[in-house]
Amino acid sequence: MSKIKVSLISILILILVIPSFSQQKVKDLKFHHLQNYCWMRLAKIVPEVTDRVILPIGTVEAHGAVAIGADNIIPNNLAEMVWEKCHALIAPPINHGFTGRSISQFPGSITVREEIFEEYIYDVLKDLVRTGFRNILIINGHGGNLQPATRAMTRLHTETAAHFMIVEWWKIAFNIVNEVYGAKAQQPGHGDLEEAALVMGYDPDLVDKEMYEKLGKDNVGRARVDPGIATMPILATTAYPEKGLGYLDFNVNKAKEYTRKKADYIADMFLEAVKRWEMMEGWKK
Ligand SMILES: [Zn+2]
Repeated sequence: MSKIKVSLISILILILVIPSFSQQKVKDLKFHHLQNYCWMRLAKIVPEVTDRVILPIGTVEAHGAVAIGADNIIPNNLAEMVWEKCHALIAPPINHGFTGRSISQFPGSITVREEIFEEYIYDVLKDLVRTGFRNILIINGHGGNLQPATRAMTRLHTETAAHFMIVEWWKIAFNIVNEVYGAKAQQPGHGDLEEAALVMGYDPDLVDKEMYEKLGKDNVGRARVDPGIATMPILATTAYPEKGLGYLDFNVNKAKEYTRKKADYIADMFLEAVKRWEMMEGWKK
């Protein structure tokens, strides 16, 4: 074969291969977990196949009758439920976060100091950006992480112009608890109906029904104190949004439906954000 013919064939192969590679979806890849790839394979995937990644973050802390890992179990499971729709890989999670002192004395609770957590997540995000990710979804399972994580992502956005979204399931789509449980649409408490639902949506065994019934729902938890009152430690590791509301429901089907709806909402919000980020970047060109 002549040299011209060989190079023509090579060009033809490139034309055929390049678009199909860039059109690949994350769901067609061998793995959707970042850490399962060797670095050379990953270099072919990011950013060509996808520049989107999900980072689940949480902590370990007491949650009444719900597993102490609830704040990790929930974002990890939500990530598993949304990656395909979001066309994103999942990064290894950050499972130790900034647990408040009012709850950190209970057995199993672990806390990382706030300033350490901020620098830690900053470093993790920085290397995700260096790897080629531009659109990063942080699914946060624990309220104490919000401020340090937001500071970290704001710093990185300023430095790199990468796009970040952080989402906390308990502050979005209050209507879902009403749709599924007929409960009042409001921000939930802690270790109560909705947090237990998201854990049961993953594994019903991770909510200890025996302990919940043994202690009694009002002894496991109590209604939140007025915003003008602070106690150290907190009065119960389960906080109901208000008196008489937020008790656990052990119906697994409802828990799965609630979890599915929260996951879909998160995926829709991220897809909308990416669309808008890309549209705004398009205006610059
Ligand atoms: Zn929690």
